[in-house]
Amino acid sequence: MKNTRFYTLMFSVSAIYFAAMAFWLITDDWNLPDILFLAVSIGCFVIVSRRLIIRIHERADAEKQMERQLQTKDEVFSSLFDSMPMAISVVNRDGTFARTNPASYLITGYNPDNFTGKPFTDYVHEDYLDLTVDRFRRTLKGEVLTFDTVIRNKDGHKVELQVTSVPVADGESVSGIIAIYNDVTAKRRTEERIKHLAYYDDLTGLPNRRLFRELLTEQLYSRRSGSVYVLLLNIDRFKFVNSSLGQDFGDVLLLQLADRIHQSVGGKGVTARMEGDEFAVLYMDDSGETDPSGIANAIFAQLESPFSIQQYTLHITVSVGIAECGTAGDFDETEVLKNAGIALSKAKEKGKNHFELFKPEMNETYVKKFNLENDLRTAIQKEQFFLLYQPQFRIETGEMIGTEALIRWRHPERGVVSPGEFIPIAEETGLIVPLSEWVLREACRQNKAWQDQGFPAVPVSVNLSMRQFLQPNLTERIAEFLDETSLSPQYLELEITESMTMDVEFATAALMSLKRLGIRISIDDFGTGYSSLNYLKNFPVDKLKIDRSFVRDILEDPHNAAIVRTIITMAHHMKQTVIAEGVETQEQLGFLRRYACDEIQGYLMSPPVSEDKIRNLLQAWKETASGRV
Ligand code: C2E
Ligand code: MG
Ligand code: MG
Repeated sequence: MKNTRFYTLMFSVSAIYFAAMAFWLITDDWNLPDILFLAVSIGCFVIVSRRLIIRIHERADAEKQMERQLQTKDEVFSSLFDSMPMAISVVNRDGTFARTNPASYLITGYNPDNFTGKPFTDYVHEDYLDLTVDRFRRTLKGEVLTFDTVIRNKDGHKVELQVTSVPVADGESVSGIIAIYNDVTAKRRTEERIKHLAYYDDLTGLPNRRLFRELLTEQLYSRRSGSVYVLLLNIDRFKFVNSSLGQDFGDVLLLQLADRIHQSVGGKGVTARMEGDEFAVLYMDDSGETDPSGIANAIFAQLESPFSIQQYTLHITVSVGIAECGTAGDFDETEVLKNAGIALSKAKEKGKNHFELFKPEMNETYVKKFNLENDLRTAIQKEQFFLLYQPQFRIETGEMIGTEALIRWRHPERGVVSPGEFIPIAEETGLIVPLSEWVLREACRQNKAWQDQGFPAVPVSVNLSMRQFLQPNLTERIAEFLDETSLSPQYLELEITESMTMDVEFATAALMSLKRLGIRISIDDFGTGYSSLNYLKNFPVDKLKIDRSFVRDILEDPHNAAIVRTIITMAHHMKQTVIAEGVETQEQLGFLRRYACDEIQGYLMSPPVSEDKIRNLLQAWKETASGRV
């Protein structure tokens, strides 16, 4: 370049010089030195001109070559752009498409040329417009970004895209962006499905425990005002429904229940299925005026109408534990769930259809209960139990006609613990099965021993637990105990409760099979549970035990008196014997005698006593042959 300029300068100087010489020659006389000087000048001019022409040619060639090279580059870019398997668009600064490659057709359904000159915003789904425009602007400022957006394809369907946007540099400024994008609709669907599997319950489609915990954590750390409550709900006696009516039935019930809980919570909460028959509600109230009992009552109200499943109409109740979450940072999610769980166990203890709001003092009870549960496991291993027997008498003759075996636990530190305290825990934890088996075996063994020692033979009654009653091999187990202890079956009586007869079909079959062994069956605490009178007459039941709550007020409460009279009449119609429990006074005995109750059991005659006291009683009766009341 420098050379060309030099030669051009030289050429111009030579041309001026030459022109001056020519003028001088024309206007002056010629002499040799002048001619020589002119010749040299012409020579110089020719040389410089030649060099200059060569230079100009060379330059033109170089430019041509450069042009050819640039053209090749553009061709390379074009062919790359067009043959890339991923979709690429070049977008101008004003947001219009400059160029789009053919791979985009598979995603958008449009011919790539269709885009040219049109704004990209025409194609972006309205919900993703703000986000996409924001990413576009940021890319124009020089950022390289990867983001997800949604467009509408030619058919109007939503297509999810993952876009990488790169600024196109033009010297110092950015002239537009290059967007490289691929269709991630299927990928996102799969990811969503995986997420759904991990975070939602299969059966009900509700959030599962994992998601519930995450949502709760989020609430706990972000909330500044209003109130948040966690409700834990457990279906009363669901195990019974499931085992007697089948798992499919149970599943349909869970589905319908999930729906009702969801309806009662409305838009203010999230309902989740934690496991089995346990549901949870995360209730959020921005006003902070929620009365937690209102939430529980709304759920109870939803459950008032019965569930119709297959040919059954079923009333279901739930127990509810409620824990308040406090303000941000007060508790973590584990604590809140634990508190709601404690409140739930408290509600369960109260019976069905109850709710409890967690109070800090409940923690203490919970710890106690937890310790008791642990101790109970050890107690079963170490056989820390013993039986007391409460005698039963025939009113008419005064003879002792039986004993009820009542379990006691000799706790190493707490002394004797009554069954009311540990039987519910044993039921809950399943420890009741080995425990009840121990009672059965021990009662049979003891009764046989009394008979072998020559005492008058009287049957022993053993209380059956719900779990035990639902055991499929119950009859076989009892047959084994009778066989093991050589007790004749007529001396064993099993006490069931009305709730065990709820599933009529199952109860009938189970009771029939027990009856076939030759043992007796009585219904304990009669009048406190629900039993269908229609079916009662078909159950192979020998005896009804009137609950002591009716006997207690028999003289004061005319309703209780009427109930007792009705039970006696009804039982006699069905050829069943009636025994009244909890008889404490002569007046109560007088009433029962007047209305022809057959037998009594209660403190009036004897509290539950140890086996040697029973032996004394039997001995006294044997000796006097008149152990009369
Ligand atoms: P239950 O079968 O109704 O037993 C009668 C309960 O009434 C016994 O309480 C007995 O001590 C009490 N009782 C007897 N006479 C009177 C009276 O005149 N007045 C009053 N106020 N109470 C009286 P206990 O022994 O504490 O047993 C409570 C419950 O525990 C039993 O009620 C029974 O449901 C359950 N239970 C006891 N032993 C066993 C067992 O071995 N297995 C199972 N599954 N449950 C048992
Ligand atoms: Mg009993
Ligand atoms: Mg009872």
